[in-house]
Amino acid sequence: MVKTIQKVGKRMLYFAYGSNLNMVQMKKRCPDSVPITKVRLKNYKLVFNRVADIIKSEGDEVEGAIYEVSPRDIRNLDAYEGYPRLYTKVEVIVEADNGKSYEVFVYVMVKKGLAEPQEYYYNTISQGFKDWDISKVTLEKAKNQSKIDYKVDSFFTQKYCDRCGGSLKKGRIMSMYNENCICLSCKDKERQEVDYSDAVEAEHLEIRKGNYNYKGIKG
Ligand SMILES: [Zn+2]
Repeated sequence: MVKTIQKVGKRMLYFAYGSNLNMVQMKKRCPDSVPITKVRLKNYKLVFNRVADIIKSEGDEVEGAIYEVSPRDIRNLDAYEGYPRLYTKVEVIVEADNGKSYEVFVYVMVKKGLAEPQEYYYNTISQGFKDWDISKVTLEKAKNQSKIDYKVDSFFTQKYCDRCGGSLKKGRIMSMYNENCICLSCKDKERQEVDYSDAVEAEHLEIRKGNYNYKGIKG
């Protein structure tokens, strides 16, 4: 998404919103890490898909914190997060209470869904919220929503491709041109379009400007 991440020498800024808010756990996993500040990520929301994840959601925000991490820490995080199969990394812009914004990287789940977290895991996160003095409102809401048959967004629940009408069983992805939920073969076709790189560039530009809800060049 955003191409440049704020770098501090070879160190980078990592946005934690789940179990790594827990300072004891974070220090164990990432011995070089330094806690920086509490921040919020706008137009996303916290959800549980067994483990914590964030999804785009206009008007919502994810509260979390940033840590400065070393290349060694990042390798440890990648292993813990099951990168790149379970989680992938994206770059986002987060904002501190004083209005300062930071370009950071964050792990998001590759496959979206909702499922209840295990108690031990939930308690680890809950302690993390306490460590950073973050209100637990969004955390509790995410837990409650994971229990019920909560309809996240038609994107995650629809069965057929918006473009070809085919099944989405093998995977779904949002079009780079608009907000269509499309199948993977339609995505492959889309990548062949002559203006595909323009569409990608436009999306990157909007995200860099802080517009996470850009509808695409044909949206
Ligand atoms: Zn399709």
